[in-house]
Amino acid sequence: MTGCLFCDIAAKELDATIVFESDRVLGFEDINPAAPTHVLVIPKEHIVSAGALDASHAQLLGEIFDSMARFATERGLSGGYRVVANSGPDAGQEVPHLHFHLLGGRAMKWPPG
Ligand code: 5GP
Ligand code: ZN
Repeated sequence: MTGCLFCDIAAKELDATIVFESDRVLGFEDINPAAPTHVLVIPKEHIVSAGALDASHAQLLGEIFDSMARFATERGLSGGYRVVANSGPDAGQEVPHLHFHLLGGRAMKWPPG
């Protein structure tokens, strides 16, 4: 165990329902879903939050967004979906390992709470 929940999931030391995986990216079902589809998409490497990203992560981010678009198509989210990255306490980030929420399967409201 690494002390980071999502590093442990990436290392398969903690169970999760994995929906897609590549060398550098993992997608798994959120344990407390807020929509019919609610998947968390993470880099396997430990990055604290969106606030820690810079231009050196461009390829990784491309892989993440490519994987999300493919997954959304596979899941049949033809009506669209929402991608959220909470960064820091004011945004309500609970797990300090970069993750993108992919939410779909129902109509969403804006602005979020
Ligand atoms: P945050 O608030 O950091 O943006 O989102 C953290 C998300 O991780 C929440 O939606 C929460 O339900 C989810 N989560 C927390 N612990 C676990 C866990 O052990 N397994 C899974 N699959 N999701 C988790
Ligand atoms: Zn981590």
